[in-house]
Amino acid sequence: MTVRTRIAPSPTGDPHVGTAYIALFNLCFARQHQGQFILRIEDTDQVRSTADSEKMIFDSLRWLGLSWDEGPDVGGDFGPYRQSERMEIYRQYVDQLVDDGYAFYCFATPAELDDMRREQMARGETPRYDGRSLGLSAAEVETRRAAGEPYVIRMKIPEEGSCIFQDMLRGEIEIPWSQIDMQVLLKADGMPTYHLANVVDDHLMAITHVIRGEEWINSAPKHQLLYHYFGWTMPELCHMPLLRNPDKSKLSKRKNPTSINFYKAMGYLPAAVINYLGRMGWSMPNEEEKFSLADMIANFDINHVHLGGPVFDVEKLDWLNGRWIREDLDNNSFAQGMAEWAINEQRLIEFIPLIKERVEKFSDVAPLVAFLLSGLPELSEESFDNKSLDNAQMQKILQYSVWRLDELQNWERDSLYSALSSLATALDLKLKIFLAPLFVAIAGSPSAPPLFDSMVVLGPDMSRARVRHGLAVLGSPSKKQLKKLEKEYRQISAKI
Ligand code: GLU
Repeated sequence: MTVRTRIAPSPTGDPHVGTAYIALFNLCFARQHQGQFILRIEDTDQVRSTADSEKMIFDSLRWLGLSWDEGPDVGGDFGPYRQSERMEIYRQYVDQLVDDGYAFYCFATPAELDDMRREQMARGETPRYDGRSLGLSAAEVETRRAAGEPYVIRMKIPEEGSCIFQDMLRGEIEIPWSQIDMQVLLKADGMPTYHLANVVDDHLMAITHVIRGEEWINSAPKHQLLYHYFGWTMPELCHMPLLRNPDKSKLSKRKNPTSINFYKAMGYLPAAVINYLGRMGWSMPNEEEKFSLADMIANFDINHVHLGGPVFDVEKLDWLNGRWIREDLDNNSFAQGMAEWAINEQRLIEFIPLIKERVEKFSDVAPLVAFLLSGLPELSEESFDNKSLDNAQMQKILQYSVWRLDELQNWERDSLYSALSSLATALDLKLKIFLAPLFVAIAGSPSAPPLFDSMVVLGPDMSRARVRHGLAVLGSPSKKQLKKLEKEYRQISAKI
């Protein structure tokens, strides 16, 4: 048997460090067994998936030095590797499940299902689909389909007993069927859900080991049942521990930058980031903390992954990156690394329009652009001193800006301008006053080159991280305040 592993990211948003972490462990497992590692794009959510996000996944994983044997961009014998190009395949398999009596048409409208859940909750029950369409006859289904009624297709779930499956790290896991809903397999728009597409593809792509994050454990019963319905052998399952913030909560961008692009923009070495991710739940047999991808592959043993939630701690990454810089870069490769990172002509040309008007000689340049070539600025509460705004107002401005910038798809000067100026108007503040705390968060001081252009040069990840950092320095709102702000923000943004 040839070992075949895969990652199956959904191209929505920024390329996540969690994707790189799971990719790394899949790659090591495949290489250690002389197997293959596949990249499949799960883009069945057509509203949230973007080509831009897909490209960032490819670019950021390549930057880290991870490579795949098959994928949408490199081809392979089991393609297409993008789920949106495999629609007929899913339809064919879901029809087969219906024909075999394992899945059924459901015409319940969203409003009807809402009522059903509300009634269940009023009775103190956990809301779940109650099987109302299970008894429809084939003739009735045909008539309603022919009349153009919208429908979904759901899978049948046993009424009693438990699902028992094996996890490579956790051994036997048992989940009662009563906790599993009659999952939608095909949505009203004809798109498959994750569960159907994932199982069909893992089978057709001959995946032997599914190594993924532990947040998918609860999906395993549905998957196991689908394999059984199809009469296929299920791949081995291995659920990796989730990455955590230093306070042990699930890694989230509220508390830690999670985009690989951020780590690139900060000037970390890819080898150090990989080394750091490799230490998340795993260690070398000799406990050496610094190791390369090749070292990891040579010594890899998935059974040595420990399940205590690994903490993604940027300070530890700094320490490790420092070791890589000092121990592995001679002066030439240091210079080359800096040039690749940002000190290159192409990058300087982006800076020049921002500062040209303000310099008289080249020696004026470095202080002006320092903030464009730095990480998070050194800030204290005093940095935000402001005659027109108090602390609570500045917190509000930064918090609203964080949310607004998170939603922004198009990171260009004009869209940044309209996103933030409309917020200023909604808050009844002059733009100049509204932008003051943002200037401080982005550039470290209130007098800096034009803000929107600087944010374009810094890019979305670094800019967002700086606004979040500014907010943290100013004192992030408490949970209660946050709820209030969120409500207000939603009202405001509905009007913008
Ligand atoms: N598309 C899922 C994700 O976004 C894949 C989960 C899996 O590996 O099964 O992570």
